Amino acid sequence: MIYLEHLLKATHGQLRYQGKQTRFDAFSHDTRQLIPGEMFVAVRGERDDGHNYILDAIRRGATGLLVEARTLNTFPDELLTAMAHIATIVVEDTRLALQQYAQAILQIWHPKVIAVTGSVGKTSTKEAIATVLSNSFSTFRSWQNYNDLLGIPLSLGRLEPHHEYAVLELGCDHPGEIAELCRIVSPQIGVITNITPIELQYFGTFDRLAAELGALPQSLPADGYFLFEDENAAIRALIETLQLSGPTIATFSRQELNLSQLQTTWSGLATELIPSATHAHKLPFSSHLLGTHHLNTMLIAYHIGVQQGIPAAETVQALSTVEPMAGRLYPLAGVSHARLLDDTHNASPASMEAGLATLAMLTPANGRRIAILGDMLNLGDYEAEAHRAIGSLIPRYADYLITRGEQAALIAEAARQAGFPADRINVTYTHEDAAQTARMLLEDADRQHHDVVLIKGSEVARMERVSEMLMDQPANAPELLVRQTPGWKQIVVTRPQRPTWLEIDLSAIGNNTRLLKQLIGPQVQIMVSLKADAYGHGALKVARTVLHNGATMLGVATVTEAIPLHDAGIDAPILVYGYIPHWQMREAVRLGVTATLYSSESAKALSRAAQALDKTVKVHIKVDTGMGRLGIRHEQIDEIVALVREIAELPGIELEGIYTHFASADAEDQTHARMQLARFQHVLSVLTTQGLRPPLIHAANSAATVALPEAHFDMIRPGIAVYGLHPSPLVRLPEGFRAALSFKTQISQVKWIPAGECISYGCTYITERPTKTAVLPVGYADGFRRSPRNWGSVLIRGQEAPILGRVCMDQCVVDVTHIPEARMGDEVVLIGRQGNASLTAEQIAERLGSLHCEVTSEILARVPRVN
Ligand SMILES: *Cc1c(COP(=O)(O)O)cnc(C)c1O
Repeated sequence: MIYLEHLLKATHGQLRYQGKQTRFDAFSHDTRQLIPGEMFVAVRGERDDGHNYILDAIRRGATGLLVEARTLNTFPDELLTAMAHIATIVVEDTRLALQQYAQAILQIWHPKVIAVTGSVGKTSTKEAIATVLSNSFSTFRSWQNYNDLLGIPLSLGRLEPHHEYAVLELGCDHPGEIAELCRIVSPQIGVITNITPIELQYFGTFDRLAAELGALPQSLPADGYFLFEDENAAIRALIETLQLSGPTIATFSRQELNLSQLQTTWSGLATELIPSATHAHKLPFSSHLLGTHHLNTMLIAYHIGVQQGIPAAETVQALSTVEPMAGRLYPLAGVSHARLLDDTHNASPASMEAGLATLAMLTPANGRRIAILGDMLNLGDYEAEAHRAIGSLIPRYADYLITRGEQAALIAEAARQAGFPADRINVTYTHEDAAQTARMLLEDADRQHHDVVLIKGSEVARMERVSEMLMDQPANAPELLVRQTPGWKQIVVTRPQRPTWLEIDLSAIGNNTRLLKQLIGPQVQIMVSLKADAYGHGALKVARTVLHNGATMLGVATVTEAIPLHDAGIDAPILVYGYIPHWQMREAVRLGVTATLYSSESAKALSRAAQALDKTVKVHIKVDTGMGRLGIRHEQIDEIVALVREIAELPGIELEGIYTHFASADAEDQTHARMQLARFQHVLSVLTTQGLRPPLIHAANSAATVALPEAHFDMIRPGIAVYGLHPSPLVRLPEGFRAALSFKTQISQVKWIPAGECISYGCTYITERPTKTAVLPVGYADGFRRSPRNWGSVLIRGQEAPILGRVCMDQCVVDVTHIPEARMGDEVVLIGRQGNASLTAEQIAERLGSLHCEVTSEILARVPRVN
């Protein structure tokens, strides 16, 4: 509850509009989560500015507004009129104002403040302490995991005058934050749960992180109380260096428990407290939390309860009611009668290991331990090493491993190196593929009722989506999973390494592959064309995704393109479409690719290379039926037959397929394509009559897949359709296909340039009027073409912004005179959707006088790909 008078006094804010309310239920800084009766606080973030959403907040029922003075004069009249009916407080800095309010309200209502920090387990510990205390006292707890300089003050908007205790979780993501939080909340009791390398990204070294957390015990008053685990050497070392004189330093230890009696079951942890100074007899010690690391959570809550005067017996009684929280080793009923351990709230190396250990402990002997692990983020330089370290634990804790995401793929790699069987590892890049792989595994009827699935990953990995797809009753997801509010569902966090990036929607690629499979039926296979780094989409991720969604073979242009796929352990066959020079044939054999052959000379050379390495290579013969490019001409039927016979004789090579390629299957007039098809059919009939027809016949690219079903044969070879682009304006994909690629950047500067001034190299553009321009950090060396024609325009705030002057190597300038709200940092769409506006690769290709595949495959490697 927030009273207007407290807020004004604490912040020295100015009441710009009176409004009707003087009390507000809570603060909200995200209109998507706002509930009527709350006060909307406009906060500037790294990616967005809350001041852009004030009108939205009013429409959603905000009864108060906390805004910054500097923006007021830029507000349109419409907004000011709407604000006039709402209590509006104007301050210099809304974040600071929230902090001032938090500090003041804690002093006014003075609950006893208990602060919990540490690397992991903060939220569960906060909840357990609050559960124990609230049995005897009126207790406030900080909201969800709102734990930083913004979240704690926002949370304290819900504090009430009657609260005797406030249990707060303090988190930190930059140096000085814990000290600052302690200054604001003045804790009397402090707990450090543990210290692990989790936030290293922000602190550089372990010592600096330890020093950061040490700000909590340092801030405690002389009659304060500080609690930590006796055996935790890092915290002990920290406390010793701090040389605290004031607060009581207390420790807890698992030795207080009778661990030989420990029971770990799906209903929780249960053991006994050994008699001690606080209680003469053994006491039962249990909770519904899963995972033995939670013994610490329980001991902390127990000690604080007893220290605050609650009798030991009552404390353990209250503790026995503590329930697991959503997303934190939360048990759920899964499909095929499996049990799920949903641990999707967040992940660090320590919590990953705790999760895996719990998986191993709770899986019955006749069940399988299945770990579905997503990326762990924010680990700085330690990131790759941390994932590999988890991988090396897999053989000990799991029977099957499914990874989802780019970093998590390193877990799979390390597991493989640690001797975990490769056929029990599945690397995926989309939530759907991870869930689908698990579903297939769980369908094994003999194991039902016994299998257990752990699902875990960092917040950004959004692994709760996998949990949802594996739940027996997904309709219950809103209550049982984390991040289920409409706001969270919309949030997509991308982490490009540069403010110019490509977003690759791998679920679109999975979807498109499945649609192609439906189109061709179960008898026909799919070989996906992955050349040119999957037309610029990223070959490895696309390869994994299409193989999970029905493709069985991959096609590349050159031997070198097969190397990264081979090295990543992809075992699907890979056909090289192009010329393999004799000097590269051993490399081709080593990689185990399938080669395209169209001459006897190459067949012999390949045979020699295969013999030298004592291997067998599969080959496909290429026939030129009217493309006029690579292949034996269809007229040379004798030569084709002779090559087939020769290959059959040669050691080390095996004929698997024969194929041709269409020149114009994407044209309205199908005459040429049909002629090519007829010629190819003639070649096939000759081979068939001589008993020489190889097992895999293929011809269709995307256009022929759609427009010429007779060309499907045994396998299709789509490229562009997989990426969700129409083969041509005339041959269009059926409904349901989705474009997978968006090309984006951010405005790097906005400024006015007077009339008559030059813009960009060569001064080819001179402003005709005062022009508001935006500079973009993208140029022709990113594939954002300069000449003979350029992109023409881009999308900013859902509107077209025309390019002015020449595109430079790394930058360009656009006109935003007609987009008054355009600001530095705004998202700019070069290909993709923005609000209701869109710019397709097809449109850009038309402007450039080019082809959509050329546009996407020319976006250069220095543009990071995110998915
Ligand atoms: C590129 C390529 C394909 C795929 O063509 P799309 O038009 O993108 O479907 C198929 N076969 C060969 C030989 C190719 O080079």
